[in-house]
Amino acid sequence: DIAHSTVTFDGRFAREFKEMAMPWRAQEAPDPHLLVLNEHLATELGLDPAFLRSPEGLRLLIGNAIPGESSPVAQAYAGHQFGWYAPRLGDGRALLLGEIGHADGQLRDIHLKGSGRTPFARNGDGQAAVGPMLREYIVSESMHALNIPTTRSLAVVATGRSVQRETLLPGAVLTRVASSHLRVGSFQYARATGDVGLLRRLAEYALTRHYRVAADAENRYLALFQAVISAQASLVARWMLVGFVHGVMNTDNMTISGETLDFGPCAFMEGFDPAAVYSSIDETGRYAYRNQPVVAEWNLARLAESLLPLLHDDQEQAVELAMEALRGFRRQYSEAWSAGMKAKLGFREGLDDEVTSPLVDELVALVQESRADYTTFFRHLGQAARGQAEPARGQLLNPAGFDAWARRWRAFAPDADAMDRVNPVYIPRNHLVEEALAAATGGNTGPLERLMDAVASPFDERPGLEHYADAAPESFGPYRTFC
Ligand code: AMP
Ligand code: MG
Ligand code: MG
Repeated sequence: DIAHSTVTFDGRFAREFKEMAMPWRAQEAPDPHLLVLNEHLATELGLDPAFLRSPEGLRLLIGNAIPGESSPVAQAYAGHQFGWYAPRLGDGRALLLGEIGHADGQLRDIHLKGSGRTPFARNGDGQAAVGPMLREYIVSESMHALNIPTTRSLAVVATGRSVQRETLLPGAVLTRVASSHLRVGSFQYARATGDVGLLRRLAEYALTRHYRVAADAENRYLALFQAVISAQASLVARWMLVGFVHGVMNTDNMTISGETLDFGPCAFMEGFDPAAVYSSIDETGRYAYRNQPVVAEWNLARLAESLLPLLHDDQEQAVELAMEALRGFRRQYSEAWSAGMKAKLGFREGLDDEVTSPLVDELVALVQESRADYTTFFRHLGQAARGQAEPARGQLLNPAGFDAWARRWRAFAPDADAMDRVNPVYIPRNHLVEEALAAATGGNTGPLERLMDAVASPFDERPGLEHYADAAPESFGPYRTFC
């Protein structure tokens, strides 16, 4: 009909990767209603927000109305979950609707989460509850506003169906937008089929979607691997710099594009603690804050294993090439982290690491021993650069140590305005996220909307929003997240 004709999805992945794409349909929602729509993103995708809000638009957003030639598919992938290989994961409660053009000229995947059981569902019910889908919406959009590569969230639509968790909860579908849903686990899956032709086609697809420059390299698949290494080194450094704990860095949750994927048991760290872990299922702390770079490197080794047949005809030489490339991860991660820390401390361009890194390390140690609130401390440091040591100083157990440190630091004339452009005031604080999710689950989306307003401009301090910059009250207690 007319409304549909305004939207078309390409089905490129569905057409070209039949071995990894199972045609499937979203479950009918008995009573869809919109919880939140990302109007700005909709417009960038050429979608009319007014149409998306209409009953027919809502059906489109949850896969109940399928425009023209679209062919939704559940994608197959494998993955290491907490170190254990699962050969057949795939979209158990998700669907790829297809690809669509973005205003930047690149394609985006339009993807559903919580759209019903698929053949990959195993014991899962295929459903998603309102709370976790809104958490992904809040945190992914917040990450985007923090200039961190991430999948985006277009909408969350309540389905009108109940979902059985610990209690009965209202169900929802998240409409997710990503540069692609290619994961390390996609390559693991292709490799495990033994079909090198499929593996090569997948690598070519990744090159065209994400790394066109690498396609010109002499060894294009090695260049692909190197590009993913660089993207992930940069991404994980950015997580570390804002205190983000992903929570479930399984290989099926690690993208080829370098975007953050799958906001499940994730959280922003409050008091600085390298061992911070929030996920209820991460009993050993495998995915603790400080482990994230090493886990990323481990996951990239799994990608390397998957790519070996493409890297060289001689597999021993292929291993050499892969190892050589992977050695670059630590260097690139360290460079990205150091550069980010220099910016957080307001150091001017061109200052040598040898000069700045002792100051960075000493400050991190001061913050760590005090378990100071990570976000507010660095924001307050901008005021310290303007000559106001408090409140940063008062957040530390060792104010005299801070004074001695600050004297040396201020000798470099740190740029306070530049600091305010990289040290956020507003992050999606756990207690605020929970408050917003609880209210929305009960039918009131007001707190969610106000929180989104704050985190959408994280560097821009505004009067009246003090509440959104404050650390959790004592009464909030230790934070645990659930998938
Ligand atoms: P995740 O831990 O979110 O990365 O999910 C790992 C796997 O479990 C993926 O294959 C998901 O599709 C699947 N999965 C997670 N929750 C459900 C659910 N409620 N129903 C069906 N499959 C699910
Ligand atoms: Mg996942
Ligand atoms: Mg998940």
